[in-house]
Amino acid sequence: MTAAPEARLPRPGQPVDAIDTPALVVDLDAMERNIARMATFARDQGMKWRPHAKMHKCAELAVQMVAAGAVGACVQKTAEAEAMAAGGVLDLYISNEVVAPAKLARVAALALDLAGRGGRLSIAVDSEAGIQGLAHALAARGAGPAAMDVFVEIDVGQGRCGVPPGEAAVALARAIAQHAELHFAGLQAYQGRAQHLRGVAERHEAIAAAVRDARHTRECIEAAGLPVGLVTGAGTGTFACEAASGLYGELQTGSFLFMDADYGRNAPDPAQPRFEHALFVKAQVISRSRDHAVCDAGHKSHAIDSGLPAVWPHPALGTLEFANGGDEHGILRPDPARGLLPAIGDSVWLVPGHCDPTVNLHAHMVGVRGGLQAGVVERLLRVDARGALT
Ligand code: PLP
Ligand code: MN
Repeated sequence: MTAAPEARLPRPGQPVDAIDTPALVVDLDAMERNIARMATFARDQGMKWRPHAKMHKCAELAVQMVAAGAVGACVQKTAEAEAMAAGGVLDLYISNEVVAPAKLARVAALALDLAGRGGRLSIAVDSEAGIQGLAHALAARGAGPAAMDVFVEIDVGQGRCGVPPGEAAVALARAIAQHAELHFAGLQAYQGRAQHLRGVAERHEAIAAAVRDARHTRECIEAAGLPVGLVTGAGTGTFACEAASGLYGELQTGSFLFMDADYGRNAPDPAQPRFEHALFVKAQVISRSRDHAVCDAGHKSHAIDSGLPAVWPHPALGTLEFANGGDEHGILRPDPARGLLPAIGDSVWLVPGHCDPTVNLHAHMVGVRGGLQAGVVERLLRVDARGALT
């Protein structure tokens, strides 16, 4: 009989060497320093901090950040909200549009469930249809007044969801206020396109424009007699700008927790704390020729939508270059300054190009304490919302 896949999972106390490959590994010490830096920043700036769980998809990590000062978590999908709620996250915000009646029925059920546990579910909208569907789903469940906080999403430059800033948002705020089940809570104003602009000045400029649009929209809505309780948004690339705006009250950063190679390519903003890479794919060299080595991690182990992984520097080999070897292989070339290749059987550590979709490829993350070389497995982090797309 062959062992069940679970039997091959690393166990607490085992050395890093015992982790079978390819495996998604979290350097818990680096991750916790990232949490402390983000929490301290938010506290010092008097900002609410609602880290985005679309990135890590792990209820245990969301709970850990609530213990560190987060007000709750953002999610992008109804199924993510359900997974986080099942794992004990009680204050959840779906920072995205949900319109299907079957999904809205789940949203309403979850809102009542969380309220019964002393928590809260909030959501973003950008259409009258979405508002009506949500109110209808809540009424069908017998929800009381203001059962959910609803944020109007405005497009502040990403060109994705959201109504244009200004009067279109006033109309939606009014529509929300007409439904007893809904409470108009403020604005969702996330500028996703600004996050990976490489230069600090470019990012500052993009968020300055977003702030102008969001401020104008707030003024329009308040002129119509509806208080805008909160403006929420911001990601890892720009959050110091939103914090300094005097307009935003909540930060939705996600990737700061793990930092990916793509974020590593941003010029660092001196106004923001520096974050460390904390998410790695541990891979093993399975083949070697004269000019290259091959490891057992391809794009079934790491997402490549934001570029190939970076190879974590090795004391003797320097920084190997990673080339695309397909879905099961990575091709490693020597650091030009060293000309050396790893041996068959050696471990290599990859920093994924994009953390969110990389996590979604794995059932577990292996939490390691004490570093990637000499550390030990502390705990397995289950990717609770893996594949939670609905
Ligand atoms: N808020 C929203 C609405 C998002 O879509 C995202 C990520 O895509 C974030 C926050 C978090 O951004 P980041 O992971 O870049 O910190
Ligand atoms: Mn991302």
